Amino acid sequence: MATNSSGIADVAPQHSDTQSLEALRALVLARAPQRWTLVVHRSPDGDALGSALALALFLRKWYTRHLNRSVEIVVLSPTPVPAYYWWLPGAQTYLQEVGALSQEARTRWVRQTDVFVFVDFNDLSRLEDLGEAIAQALATTHEDGRPIAVLVDHHENPRVETDFRLWSPDAAATAQLMWQWLVTWDSSLIDREIATCIYTALMTDTGSFRFGTTTPEVHYLAARLLSYGVQPDLVYQKIYHTFSYHRLQFYGFCLLARLRYLPFFRCAYLVVSAEDLRRFRIGAGETEGLVNYTLTLQNVVLGALLIDRTQPHHTRPTIRLSLRSTGSLRVDELAVRYFNGGGHANAAGGVLHMPLTEAEAYFLDVLKREFPRWTQPITSSSD
Ligand code: 5GP
Ligand code: MN
Repeated sequence: MATNSSGIADVAPQHSDTQSLEALRALVLARAPQRWTLVVHRSPDGDALGSALALALFLRKWYTRHLNRSVEIVVLSPTPVPAYYWWLPGAQTYLQEVGALSQEARTRWVRQTDVFVFVDFNDLSRLEDLGEAIAQALATTHEDGRPIAVLVDHHENPRVETDFRLWSPDAAATAQLMWQWLVTWDSSLIDREIATCIYTALMTDTGSFRFGTTTPEVHYLAARLLSYGVQPDLVYQKIYHTFSYHRLQFYGFCLLARLRYLPFFRCAYLVVSAEDLRRFRIGAGETEGLVNYTLTLQNVVLGALLIDRTQPHHTRPTIRLSLRSTGSLRVDELAVRYFNGGGHANAAGGVLHMPLTEAEAYFLDVLKREFPRWTQPITSSSD
């Protein structure tokens, strides 16, 4: 790979197999698949949406240049997309929430898809009911063959089978892998809009370039993206300076009344009820980032957020968990073992189907059982 004079990789670390990208390009050139569905995970974040929209914008240009034809593309989200992402380039054109489609329209679209790209997740269980529909579509052969499936992701332990895979848990964001796809296929098509999508994805998944995953390559990619005219102040404001008055008050309320601090366990966690969410009219994506406050406490190495997301009129409780940690304490392992989830070493999540008070008691049991893990020295720059 090309490197600059400081030896930093020119695009991104060689996270995945470029042969795979070359083979995919050859297949697409030969078959010219007409319909692409770029799928993001439930509660999509900036990395999922930015990476998928970058690909959508890129593919449209690439089809015109290399195949001299148009292409149908949708970025499909299983759950509502937070209001503060709809400004992203391409969102108004390509982004579709499953809930806004009739069952029939959804089924027809999924069945007629020629290429599925799974962006920023690797387990179909993260797609709600859409996962089942896609699994069926992938198992069905059409006249021109089975649909092609491509994975672009950086989460641990992939659990989905695909024909092509751009995957590396070492990537700070899926956006780094997506960038590699775009530059491998045709870097001359990258423009300010595409760069803005990739930048947004990279910025959000690195906590605005402050997480431990922020390598020299991350900053180097950010620098390349800025050279296309991305406006970092605007991107930041559109995502992080869009709180409603209610949302800001909700954060204050949570920190005052819903925060539990267990200094002995070096843990702090928040427990938020469905009633709290209703009271402050909290919408899609508006709890994003709340869990990070737990780690701002001195000495805390494990933070969590338990939210009651039980649907009105549903009898089965649904408690969503977010886990965050510092340094060498791995929360993805806890998420897999105890909370039916997964994620990254320092940011993971899962779900429990039990009432909120039981979920909290269960969480505390896990804490007591697993505590010896972090009596070992936690290696981190903030320790
Ligand atoms: P968050 O706490 O922000 O919802 O998620 C943190 C990380 O954990 C994200 O990378 C997300 O993809 C992952 N994650 C969250 N919930 C789940 C889950 O239910 N299953 C799996 N496999 N991963 C999850
Ligand atoms: Mn990501």
